[in-house]
Amino acid sequence: MRGHMTQEQWGELKQDLLRTVGQNNFKTWIEPLEFAELSEGVATFHVPTNFIGNYVSQNFGDLIMHQLSSIGEDVQRVHFKVPANTPARPSSRPTASAPSAAPAAAAKEELPGAPLDARFTFDSFVVGKPNELANAAARRVAEGGPVTFNPLFLYGGVGLGKTHLMHAIAWELQKQRPDLNVLYLSAEQFMYRFVQALRDRKMMDFKELFRSVDVLMVDDVQFIAGKDSTQEEFFHTFNALVDQNKQIIISADRAPGEIKDLEDRIRSRLQCGLVVDLHPTDYELRLGILQSKVDQYREQYPDLQLADGVLEFLAHRISTNVRVLEGALTRLFAFASLVGREITMELTQDCLSDVLRASERKISVEEIQRRVAEHYNIRLSDMIGPKRVRTLARPRQIAMYLCKQLTSRSLPEIGRRFGGRDHTTVMHGVKRIEELRAQDGQIAEDLELLRRTLEA
Ligand code: ADP
Ligand code: MG
Repeated sequence: MRGHMTQEQWGELKQDLLRTVGQNNFKTWIEPLEFAELSEGVATFHVPTNFIGNYVSQNFGDLIMHQLSSIGEDVQRVHFKVPANTPARPSSRPTASAPSAAPAAAAKEELPGAPLDARFTFDSFVVGKPNELANAAARRVAEGGPVTFNPLFLYGGVGLGKTHLMHAIAWELQKQRPDLNVLYLSAEQFMYRFVQALRDRKMMDFKELFRSVDVLMVDDVQFIAGKDSTQEEFFHTFNALVDQNKQIIISADRAPGEIKDLEDRIRSRLQCGLVVDLHPTDYELRLGILQSKVDQYREQYPDLQLADGVLEFLAHRISTNVRVLEGALTRLFAFASLVGREITMELTQDCLSDVLRASERKISVEEIQRRVAEHYNIRLSDMIGPKRVRTLARPRQIAMYLCKQLTSRSLPEIGRRFGGRDHTTVMHGVKRIEELRAQDGQIAEDLELLRRTLEA
């Protein structure tokens, strides 16, 4: 039956999926899927909105693929798309259409916001050193009290929780201050709305609408860089709201000063409020996130056994971003529940070999600093700090050397992460260690040991 899955078979598969993902997930995410076709290894499903498509693809894509393979279909990829005859307008879904949306949202049907992900709340956000400041700032804004910093600018690398925090703010505001008009959307959707308004000659409506919100959240604002008229309109919206003392919350993948092709006046306005960054995750935070995920999964898969050490292994090995970490765990649980086995280290390595391989060489600067500090028994703060005594300077140089060897960071980037040192300092350190490595057997041995533990 290769390549010939029938609607009937899809119906049966759906029943299996129901058992695997549980009633709630099924109703929200799987039921709306319509099997369209299977050809050349690609299974295509129609979805009512792009949002659902993206969500299903990220969270259940692998599972659906496994299921299809298990009935003998040759599937390399599953694809979710909005059928051509329904215009793809995810952003036209009002906030109220979010899964299990709060009732308060119903009154704001006209606001062109993006749907909020029901899972992205403060409750489910695990706080650790790398994100505690961002979390605290987000919580403060979510109280809906008097505006103290405007805008709140959250930035950080992909998958570190920016969108999660923004949705959490929106959910919390709906609870705390149902009287406020809260609008969350991505910068891309902002542009889309803007272009649409221009095209339909509805600029007045557009302006009025955006100026009538009490809290405006724009996600991934780096997207409008280089898009001149969108930037211009954003700037005016921004100013109008700030003048009325309305709260604005912005996220981006880098600091305002580092977004290229952004007008200076916008950049400086963005820097006016509170700028906080989400740092790359550390081992403890990753482990915490995994543990909280496992607790959630327990409800879905009550019988599943998890061997000791698996979570620690994952937290150690997958250091890229939280999304990858979560995806790995989802896949692991889905797989284990399909084959009905305990999640052992072996199963983990089998099931996630591609993810593990992909993150193999991604050793972070922070990790190197931590390991080297541990090895030489100095404090991490001294590793990064200004003191120049030999007992600190040498380990610091060793860490710099390893960063140059084991990461793809440039010398200036490395310098920045070592307490804002100049790239020439890093270059000097790296050279010095290269020399010592050739002369000093102990150093050569230390380097070898450190490299091996870091790559393990
Ligand atoms: P970003 O917008 O920064 O790219 P997201 O907010 O989309 O990242 O986060 C990616 C995924 O990781 C989401 O599923 C989110 O719930 C999860 N995540 C990120 N940070 C945390 C955290 N501290 N606690 C729990 N989940 C997190
Ligand atoms: Mg995001």
